[in-house]
Order: sequence, then structure tokens, then C-alpha cells
Amino acid sequence: MLNSDLHEKISTNNPSIIWKECLKAIKENVTLMTFNTWFLPIKPVDIDLEKTTLKVQLPSQFFWEWIDEHYNTLINKTIHEVLGPGAKLAYMISSEPDIDESRPEYINKNKVSAKEETKQTFETNLNPRYNFDNFIKGESNQLARAAAVAISENPGGTSFNPLFVYGGVGLGKTHLVQGIGNQILQKYPEKKVIYLSSDIFTVEFVEAIQSNKVNDFSNFYRNMDVLIIDDIQFLIGKEKTQDLFFHIFNTLHQSSKQIILTSDKAPKDMKGLDERLISRFQWGLTADIQPPDYETRMAILKNKADDYGMMIAGDILDYIATNIVSNIRELEGCLIKLLANASLNSKNIDIELARKTVREIATDRKVNITIENITSLVCESLKIDENKIRDKTRKKEIVFARQIAMFLSKDLTKSSLKTIGLHFGGRDHSTVIHACTSVEESLSKDLYVKELIENLRDKIKNNFS
Ligand code: ADP
Ligand code: MG
Repeated sequence: MLNSDLHEKISTNNPSIIWKECLKAIKENVTLMTFNTWFLPIKPVDIDLEKTTLKVQLPSQFFWEWIDEHYNTLINKTIHEVLGPGAKLAYMISSEPDIDESRPEYINKNKVSAKEETKQTFETNLNPRYNFDNFIKGESNQLARAAAVAISENPGGTSFNPLFVYGGVGLGKTHLVQGIGNQILQKYPEKKVIYLSSDIFTVEFVEAIQSNKVNDFSNFYRNMDVLIIDDIQFLIGKEKTQDLFFHIFNTLHQSSKQIILTSDKAPKDMKGLDERLISRFQWGLTADIQPPDYETRMAILKNKADDYGMMIAGDILDYIATNIVSNIRELEGCLIKLLANASLNSKNIDIELARKTVREIATDRKVNITIENITSLVCESLKIDENKIRDKTRKKEIVFARQIAMFLSKDLTKSSLKTIGLHFGGRDHSTVIHACTSVEESLSKDLYVKELIENLRDKIKNNFS
């Protein structure tokens, strides 16, 4: 129900007032829990002159995906009521920079605006969400964390150079090393800090070769004060990239610039990596992160629950901490899923729901589905050359295959839109959204597409679980 002086009000062009009106209408249509969880955190940012697009900010990628999936219709209906037919919400996510803008200066020169001259002229790629305060200390990460703290006090000036952090998935490597980057920038805002994963490093290197800019590429990284490369194991088998990285490493190390690396295994176990690199990786400190013990798991759960503003009884946290033991991302995922399950079905968070959620997580875990695996299967089924799918080509059958592979990657992996875009030749996250929407549309209209997707899904699950 809209009140009569609404049009008076929204003529103010004030995004907050407009969003408040939307919230009123939304509140009548959802439970209080849903409202508090999914709608209150949305922040109005801007409204365009024609008043057709209200821009709002969401706290995370997960949020966007959830809202898009479950409340799209309600949101559209509401915004049409308040602003008129044709109006829409535009989303932005608070901490994820657009991929285009995260490109270093030499690739993206025309995008660097003049007013930023005094600041960093490139994206650090650091997610501000990762800091030391919200990284729970435990026996399992003690050494790595202590080294991280020491380095951020005095980057390049400790004997921990390089710092090599290794351990299994979801144990906090990325969190910790990005935490170092964020902390250094707080203390030394003038320092040039950059974070990237080694597969992005490789993609950029290949692009630099293609555009004859290898020197620029190499100089860009040699110029950093702090170079953080995540998941360095992806350099295995990529000899040219390893060779270039070797030279960058030497330049930085000789001038006491800080190098921070992560990997899923210890340097000595990185078979297929150049021996020269393996020995350099061991020059500084090698620190592993182990799966967390029970106390650390409980502490992490309590901390995250607080973060989400969730009130969860101790026996439920205990149940989760007892049953999810080897991966912190799963602990976190379990809480989010619990919250989602509760708010979707308007249920209370009780032990029964916790059991169901833990079971769901265990089922997910069995599946080792990656973007690469999905892409190969899609290409094989559609008889498309895998390399073409990453090319710029707009040939119909290739675009189709690419869209299907993007859609399935979004559906079946936990990768962000940004990561998915990167795997398909460095495309923007909005291209991925577009791909997903258009496949969804065909799914409801086109029996062929529906069958194809179903077959592919089964195939992927059977092959990679
Ligand atoms: P990895 O890079 O080792 O695969 P991440 O750094 O991505 O793992 O961690 C997975 C998730 O778990 C992240 O959301 C991270 O914030 C969280 N996490 C990991 N370790 C901790 C910790 N010690 N305290 C709090 N959160 C943690
Ligand atoms: Mg990681």
C-alpha cells in the first residue's frame, strides 16, 4: 500500500527516502527475520535524474546472489510501485572492485583518473574485509600469524622474506596474506602493495605477450614494495611464467622488497616447479596452517555469528564445530546456510535445522567441480575447441558454449562472478551475469537447452565427484 503523499515525497530525489518507501512495501510482504536479514543491510546510494534507476549497495557477493535468486520479483514489483513502471534497482557490492579497474596501470592507462595521481594508480586487489582483528588466533595458525604481524610492522625488513604460507583449502591463507597487505597500507599508506593469485598473474602475462608489453608487465611488478601472490602452485607446468617470475622475485628480494606467497603444499613438494624457485621460496620463512582444533573452531563460529548479528545457542555451535572439522570456509558457509535455511522457511535455528544444514554441506564437499572441469566437459559435448571459448570471438556457437559454461560454473562452483569472468579470457563480471540471465531465459523456453543443461549437470557431477 502506498500512502497518498508519496509522490510529494519522492519528488525530493533523495535515494534514502525513496528506499525507505520501498522498505515499507517490502516489509509487508516478508517475515521480520527475512526483512532484517536481507533488506535492512541494503544501502541506498544514488538515484538517476530520470528517477528510473535506484542504485543500492549490498554487503557481499553472496547477498547479491541470494537476493537475486529469491526476491527479484518482490523487488521489481516494489520499485515499480514506488518509482513507476520501467524503474529498476542497480546493485553494487561494497568490497569487490570491478575487474576492469583492478587492472594495473599499464593495461588500463586511460582509466586512471587524474585526481588519483597522488594515490596508488593501480588497484591493490585487497579486500578490506580481511584483517588481523577478525583472523582468529589458534595453535593451527600461530606461526604464520606471528610472522604476518611481524612483516606488517616492518615489510621487507625481517628475515621472513619471502613469507611462504601453505596449507589445505579454506584454512585462512588468503585471509592472512591479504590481512598483511591491508595492515601495511594502514601503517605505510605510501607503499605500493599488490595482491593477486598466480593464475591471474599468468593470464596477464599471456596478455602482455600478445600485446608486446612484457617489459611493462615485468617492470610494473618489479616496482612494488610488497608483492603478494596467492596460490603459487598454479605456476606449476607454466615454464615461461615461472621464468619471468624468477626474475621479478630476484629484483624485489635484492632491494629488500617484501614477497609473500601462498600454496596448497610446501615448497619441497611442488613437483614440476623450477628448482631455482623452490630453493628461493625457502630463503625466508615457510609456515604452514593446519586445520583448526575444536576451540579455534568454536571461537571462529562465535565470531562469525556475531558478525552476522545471529543469535545462536551454544549447543548448536558445538554441534557445528564437532561436525565440520577440516575447513574454515565450510564453517562459515554452514552459518550462512543455516541463516538462509531458517529465513527461507521461516524456521527457528534449532538443532534439527543445524543437522540438516551440516548434511547439506557434507554433500557439497564430495563434489570436486572446478571451472576448468566444467569448461572442458561443455566444450567436449558441444564439440568446440577449448581455446576458442576464451577468445574474443563472437561466433554464435562459441558464444553459446561460453554462456553455458559460465552459467554452470556459477551454478555448480562457489566461484565469484569475477573469478568466473577471469577464467573466460578476463571478461567482466557483468558479462557473466548477462550469460546467466540469457541461459536462464532459454531454459524456460527451449527444451533443447533444458535437456542439454540437465545432461551436462549430470555428467559433471558423475565425473568430478
Ligand atoms: P584459503 O585461502 O586457505 O583457502 P581463506 O583465507 O579463503 O582460505 O579462508 C576461508 C574463509 O575462512 C574466509 O572467509 C576466511 O575469512 C575464513 N577464515 C579462515 N581462517 C580464519 C581465522 N583464523 N579466523 C577467522 N576466519 C577465518
Ligand atoms: Mg585462498
